[in-house]
Amino acid sequence: MKSHFLLLIILASWTKQVFAQKQIAITIDDLPTISRSMNTDALRAELTDQLLGHLKQYKVQATGYVIGEKLVKDGKVIPAQYDLLMKWLKAGHSLGNHTFGHVGINTISAAAYERDVLGADTLLRSFLHRQHAELKYFRHPYLHRGNTVEKRDSLEMILAKHNYIQAPVTVDNDEYLFAAAFEKAVSSNNPPLADSVSNTYINYMMNYVHYYESQADSLFHRPIPHIMLLHANLLNSKALGLLLSRLKADGYQFVTLQKALEDPCYLTKDQYIGKRGISWIHRWALSKGKKGAFFKGEPEVPKFISNLTK
Ligand SMILES: [Zn+2]
Repeated sequence: MKSHFLLLIILASWTKQVFAQKQIAITIDDLPTISRSMNTDALRAELTDQLLGHLKQYKVQATGYVIGEKLVKDGKVIPAQYDLLMKWLKAGHSLGNHTFGHVGINTISAAAYERDVLGADTLLRSFLHRQHAELKYFRHPYLHRGNTVEKRDSLEMILAKHNYIQAPVTVDNDEYLFAAAFEKAVSSNNPPLADSVSNTYINYMMNYVHYYESQADSLFHRPIPHIMLLHANLLNSKALGLLLSRLKADGYQFVTLQKALEDPCYLTKDQYIGKRGISWIHRWALSKGKKGAFFKGEPEVPKFISNLTK
């Protein structure tokens, strides 16, 4: 009896250890905000406060990626937009570069891309410096990393030259479609529909987490710290708390991007050259020669969501 009890204790602590190994970093793109309806300074501040409230509740230290052109109008900086960035910094989050004009490298020249990287750099670096914060991370618009070898190599060179660390994504998803559907439901004054979009969104995201979990297991034969891509939109300002609570209940611990990147899996070579902006897990899988069957089971956006975005 006593030995059974001991076995139970060992099993419980082992289970806890295994669950503790699940880690995820939260990264949020298109800062300060991306929402059609939250279109005044006050509404953008409200959206930001709600997002930051969810992150605070679950003790998440996120990284946010700023689009430079959202900070200026007619050649002048917009103080209210910088105020929103201040809120992120004061809440303990890090900010990174998401280019000035949010154009993927596949569609412009390498020289134009570099100008776009520097456009946001100029607007962010001295601002962050004054707040004793660093500008070190870069997130590629649309996750595009080059559709030719030359573009891919130029991208690597440009980002290295300006001392950026590229922020990968493992849990890629079509959250933006849910965000558009949610805006539609809210603007048509249909709370039950908005709730239905938001609940479907949470389940969809958890399915995606599990999909990439099992792919990481088969690539690395162990769990890896994941990096989730989200956007600073109205949907997340309402639903992020629930998503974080589901991740926590699933055994996830929230870590910083810096901590996630310490894992050697992020040294895996990405040799994917193509026009798609895809998860780093898929990039690694394609680089390792994985074929069709490996990619099966990817969660799909339900019809009623995509219909709402039309
Ligand atoms: Zn973006």
